[in-house]
Amino acid sequence: MEDFLSLELPELEGRIHALGQPRYRARQIFSWIHGRGVFSAEQMHNLPGELRGQVAPFLSPPPVALDQRLDGEDGTQKFRFRLRDGGVIESVTIPEEKRVTLCVSTQVGCALGCLFCRTGQMGLRRNLKVEEILGQYYAIRSMFGGKRAITHVVLMGMGEPLENQEATRRALKLMTHPLGCGLSTRRITVSTVGIPGRLERLFSEIPVSITLSLNAADEETRSRLMPINRRYQIEEVLDTLRRIPLAPRRRFTIAYVLIRGENDSLKDARRLVRILHGLRCKINLIPFNPFPETELRRPQEGDVLAFQDCLRGRGLSTHVRWSRGGDVLAACGQLGGEAPENRKETPGDM
Ligand code: SF4
Repeated sequence: MEDFLSLELPELEGRIHALGQPRYRARQIFSWIHGRGVFSAEQMHNLPGELRGQVAPFLSPPPVALDQRLDGEDGTQKFRFRLRDGGVIESVTIPEEKRVTLCVSTQVGCALGCLFCRTGQMGLRRNLKVEEILGQYYAIRSMFGGKRAITHVVLMGMGEPLENQEATRRALKLMTHPLGCGLSTRRITVSTVGIPGRLERLFSEIPVSITLSLNAADEETRSRLMPINRRYQIEEVLDTLRRIPLAPRRRFTIAYVLIRGENDSLKDARRLVRILHGLRCKINLIPFNPFPETELRRPQEGDVLAFQDCLRGRGLSTHVRWSRGGDVLAACGQLGGEAPENRKETPGDM
């Protein structure tokens, strides 16, 4: 049975109208679900008893159950949720002085296999449903004390959001609706490898902030680190960004994971300056966070700083993100992999 949790407001109005009830009741139900995190008709006390009975079968709590919570020394927290089919996903909260950012997953695993990413080593188990993406937000929002507790959301957890396009689009619509969560599009970031066409379509409907996971300045290196680059090459992806009509004073973020001996030389930095010429962007350099299954190495601090100086010296706004949450494997690229349900079976596993 279709759950009201995944419906956009016009769809919900259609369902409520079909039950012989006025459309404004749909707005009330929508606001209970998405604004207040109430999923039981019983508690929707401004609805008449008859309507509560009619809608009760279509309402249920988000299908994510908290399984484990790990607290990092720096305040970062990693949440592991179990899905109804036994799959496991992870979300991370990162508190800063004036904001709390929640990083959510969009897939169980990921098919794209980026070498520096632990999730990518799992393979794809399945796409998340709308209510599973939103469920991470609602569960953590309520643990943290309500609607304003999470100030920013980033789709940067497990999975590539544009490979789960429709559920991602719908979840973003529901997060940004003023009668629901009411998050500003400026406070939501979609992190992506950059899939031309899909990226433009998503942005034209919901102009969220975009982080492009670039990680190399030449095609050969990027294709080695990120196999998707064989399909969508750097040039095509950057051209896509150049076509997107950004509002004044907004910029793209370019994420660049620095890996020792792979992409962290000054030659790479100079090439990066060349290929980003004319693009309104800032750059986040992320020193690689090793995880158990990889042989890639963390860069040396001196090389990270030299890389940053080179970009800054040529006028590019560049920050080093010394990732947080490394002690609980919650840092960038470290999510996934512990739960046996998530492991892709290989002959060695059997
Ligand atoms: S970095 Fe993103 S796209 Fe690449 S494997 Fe990891 S989750 Fe997938």
